[in-house]
Amino acid sequence: MAKEQHEFQAETKQLLDLMVHSIYTNHEIFLRELISNASDAIDKVHFEALTNRDLLEGDESYEIFLVPDKESHTLTISDNGIGMNLEEVIENIGTIAKSGTKAFLEKLKEAKESDASVSDKDMIGQFGVGFYSAFMVADRVVITTRKAGEKQAVRWESDGSGSFTTEECEKEKRGTSITLFLGKDFYGDSTEENYEDQYTLERLVKKYSDYVRYPIKMNWESEEMPRDKDGKIIPDSKPEKKVEIRTLNSMQPLWTKGKSDITQDEYNEFYKNQFHDWENPMEIFHVNAEGAVEFTALMFIPENAPFNLYHADFEPGLQLYSRHVFIMDKCKDLLPDYLRFVKGLVDSPDLSLNISRELLQQSRELKVIGKNLEKTILKTLAKQLEKEREKYEKFWAQFGKSLKIGVYGSIYSGGDTKDKLKDLLLFETSKEGKLTSLKEYKERMPESQKKIFYATGKDKAIIDELPQMELLREKGLEVLYLTDPVDEFCIEALHEYDGKEFQSISRGELDLGDAESEQEKKETENIAKENGDLMKDIKEALGDKVGEVKVSSRLKSSAVCLVASAEGPSLSMEQTFSDMDN
Ligand code: ADP
Ligand code: MG
Repeated sequence: MAKEQHEFQAETKQLLDLMVHSIYTNHEIFLRELISNASDAIDKVHFEALTNRDLLEGDESYEIFLVPDKESHTLTISDNGIGMNLEEVIENIGTIAKSGTKAFLEKLKEAKESDASVSDKDMIGQFGVGFYSAFMVADRVVITTRKAGEKQAVRWESDGSGSFTTEECEKEKRGTSITLFLGKDFYGDSTEENYEDQYTLERLVKKYSDYVRYPIKMNWESEEMPRDKDGKIIPDSKPEKKVEIRTLNSMQPLWTKGKSDITQDEYNEFYKNQFHDWENPMEIFHVNAEGAVEFTALMFIPENAPFNLYHADFEPGLQLYSRHVFIMDKCKDLLPDYLRFVKGLVDSPDLSLNISRELLQQSRELKVIGKNLEKTILKTLAKQLEKEREKYEKFWAQFGKSLKIGVYGSIYSGGDTKDKLKDLLLFETSKEGKLTSLKEYKERMPESQKKIFYATGKDKAIIDELPQMELLREKGLEVLYLTDPVDEFCIEALHEYDGKEFQSISRGELDLGDAESEQEKKETENIAKENGDLMKDIKEALGDKVGEVKVSSRLKSSAVCLVASAEGPSLSMEQTFSDMDN
């Protein structure tokens, strides 16, 4: 059969044009895309060979081979996967049948129609676009491929402009070889993007395809000094070139091993390597889920909170993999923000490689996975609080703030976050100098106490000196010490716990809720009546410095105290706001 010329489908042309002309800078992902196609192709032949062993033609050692060539400035990616016949090459490579790419083009059109300032660069950056990404680095691409079980091989070639050619050719091994004729910016020692360089390729394989389950091999060149028969370097000799086959990827993703086959050390080393930490993690979660959405997740709570956890430059999120192929580094859409300190990864065959961040956000699969992970983490923390108090308090010291911010944030986001978190909160308290949960506080409340009391201040000592504390202490009532500025926001957001409202001891009327205080209240009212003129005089003297001057029952030995009104912000909140302004 003679050489034939074919036109690309209109959408394909459009996509190719974007690939070649966009100034999208993340060129290196082309390798990930081609390797993932190779891996898919091997999956397919492996699967079909289960029922038809002849397909393998005696070649069962699945592998992907990278061949960089500095003379022709090419990079060839070969696999012994399923391969393609003529119809399949035309169908699979020449047209865009894939929903991911179609969706991408539609999205691009929409984005451009609604906002002219959206550039191709913005859009492409969020996609992996499969085979066509080869044209980001190559001026010309040649595919030779032979389908497993068939005799005739095909050669496909294109420069990525508008058309491609196909012709018959010879190929001994089944599978596909893709040769990229690298563009002049993508080879040579003067560029960082040197895709004919073995070190660059090794780095990219480790970064994107380390866990592909077939070996990704390469002829590794090195130089060695010649040695004599005793192993001593021969003096004045020249280094000799040595070539050996090297497998670049580690292949087995730790998370695909059975839980019982993984040692604590393996988990720790993996964590430190993968997430660039020096310390072992405080907590490890290994989740395998089947059912509606199949996935594996490996998550970690670090030993220490990173210094920038609450800064704008901190990027939370989990790594995403699909069938062990890396998709994305910091996917924020899995876990709620209050779990921003959790590091880890999710691998699911139900996630598509070619998916944009926008589409991902709406992905049902992702929502299902996220819900499951959140539940797993919260359950473990709750259990720890109950059974391993010391460990939990260590966690709380590092990441408690994150949960408190989460409770506060739920005022704005709606949802049930505060209900999920309320039992995980710990506060300092006037009892026993320990941390207490709200549940524990409530269990200690005497029958007559109607509200949960709290006081705000920079530290415990300052709160202890509040004039109002004296009375509560005398009555044996427990007070939560809110010493972290976010504590009070958190309490405000909760509003009540298990039917008990929170009551600031330095805000509005202090209703201690027992009979004694009813009587005191009456006494106070009487004193107020008798001293009405005095109060008026004091208010006049102080003018705008205070809102109101009142007789109080909340003082023991102090003559006066400042209180915030029940409606307005509390004193410490006011302090926080003015700190933030400065
Ligand atoms: P996707 O992988 O999402 O399907 P690609 O653009 O990466 O999209 O690839 C398009 C199609 O081309 C694949 O679905 C597959 O049918 C075919 N293909 C690509 N590379 C290979 C290969 N190495 N071996 C066999 N088929 C391949
Ligand atoms: Mg692909």
